[in-house]
Amino acid sequence: MIYAIAFLLGALGWTLTEYWLHRGWGHRGEAKNPFSTEHLAHHADVSYFAPTYKKVIATALVGGTTGTVLFLLLGITGLFASLGFVVMYVTYEVIHRLLHTHAGRTRYGRWARRHHLYHHYRRPQLNHGVTTPIWDFVFGTLEVPDTVKVPRRMALAWMLDDDGELHPELTDEYLLIGKKKNDLQESP
Ligand SMILES: [Zn+2]
Ligand SMILES: [Zn+2]
Repeated sequence: MIYAIAFLLGALGWTLTEYWLHRGWGHRGEAKNPFSTEHLAHHADVSYFAPTYKKVIATALVGGTTGTVLFLLLGITGLFASLGFVVMYVTYEVIHRLLHTHAGRTRYGRWARRHHLYHHYRRPQLNHGVTTPIWDFVFGTLEVPDTVKVPRRMALAWMLDDDGELHPELTDEYLLIGKKKNDLQESP
């Protein structure tokens, strides 16, 4: 039982880290750090993600260090806590990627997309949590948008139909703004 609790606390610890990494480092443009450089690139181009090898190195360093420290402090219980932390981190990476690449099918999936894309498109100082709104709620940065306005040129592929318009089932949740590019005239 204690191991399960340690695992869950470790997972919860990741969600808090996810929040503060994003809020504290990701959006600190004036004090550049490798994380903010990557994160601001992700904001400038919503299809850009930091290279996987950088994430693997960061995970090995952070996971290895915290795992060792927690093991020395708490023994096997500490190992379960760090395992929960790393598993939740990987879950976050998968969820974040899916938010950008695939349409949401479940209630959670649709919520997570609106929550995160509102952060991307409208209010980068709000909704820093990606997997959970808990910490945004705790630290007063949570906003639940009605309709998320999406600049047309930054729309994600899953939002659009073959004509480049919003899929009809998304019109309650998103609104495309900005002019549509005129179709190129074919030259004779
Ligand atoms: Zn994102
Ligand atoms: Zn951000």
